[in-house]
Amino acid sequence: MIIDAHCDVLYQLWKNPDWRFQDSPELRINYEKWAGNTVKVQCFAIFVPDTVPSDLQFHTALEMVNIFYEQIIAPYENIKLVTSKEDILALKDNEKGAMLTLEGLHPIGHDMIKLKTFLHLGVKAVGLTWNNGNAVADGVGEERGAGLSTFGKQVVEVLNTYNVMTDVSHLSYQGFWDVMDLAKYPIASHSNSRKICSHVRNLDDKQLKALIKKKAFIGVTYVPEFLTGTKEATSKDVIQHIEKIYKLGGEDSVGLGSDFDGTSGFVEGIEDHAQYDSFLQELKARFSKELVEKIAWKNFLHNLEAKTY
Ligand SMILES: [Zn+2]
Repeated sequence: MIIDAHCDVLYQLWKNPDWRFQDSPELRINYEKWAGNTVKVQCFAIFVPDTVPSDLQFHTALEMVNIFYEQIIAPYENIKLVTSKEDILALKDNEKGAMLTLEGLHPIGHDMIKLKTFLHLGVKAVGLTWNNGNAVADGVGEERGAGLSTFGKQVVEVLNTYNVMTDVSHLSYQGFWDVMDLAKYPIASHSNSRKICSHVRNLDDKQLKALIKKKAFIGVTYVPEFLTGTKEATSKDVIQHIEKIYKLGGEDSVGLGSDFDGTSGFVEGIEDHAQYDSFLQELKARFSKELVEKIAWKNFLHNLEAKTY
């Protein structure tokens, strides 16, 4: 069993209206690939690119919510919406869980009602920024490097109240520390070790240790540039980042956040959903059975508050 904390299938389906979730071969995750593998739960991120004018961003995000419900949940008897630990544990053997997440709060502007609307629609993890800045905080690509605004702090309070995870992937360094002070459920859904690969999207040892101290989930991601700093990487590089986080004490934190369909690069050995079973075998050859279970799904699960709202 595997839980994958991040992918951008919704964005691809929005950008390419001719593609079908059922079987479009261009998708790293489609129904046919997913149905045949051991991935139990897939998180699907709403991600609005910054090329969308700001007055259309909320609408665009809602279009992706509709894609999620119309193309992923509704057509398939065996795909269930999951919003809690209990939902995931209740999945039958033949069933898969789909969880809705949000990558970047630029679509809400300064409007808390828009955030709450996403939460009522089932969003269970919220990345505060993408690479650039917004009303909540700056992202890693924003030179100013600002932490949380007053509005951003209110946002985290709302996420705490709604038992929703605050995702620090893409967030500025200062924003990271502000979240660690305030968030009840911090996670990094798709980020690697900066010590191994010095990329601005990765987390340094101090950040990783702060997450580990809170047993917060850290999803290692299969983006070549974040694994090796080049356009080439293999599943062995993914395992190296997992091992690094484990060795920092992250046995109860480290997990998987692929970023499938969010990046153009391929990681040899774990190029798409169809390779998850062989990747799981690689993990089993490297780590103990108990640790593999934690990496593959348990660490994500224990970050999900059982209570729903
Ligand atoms: Zn991302």
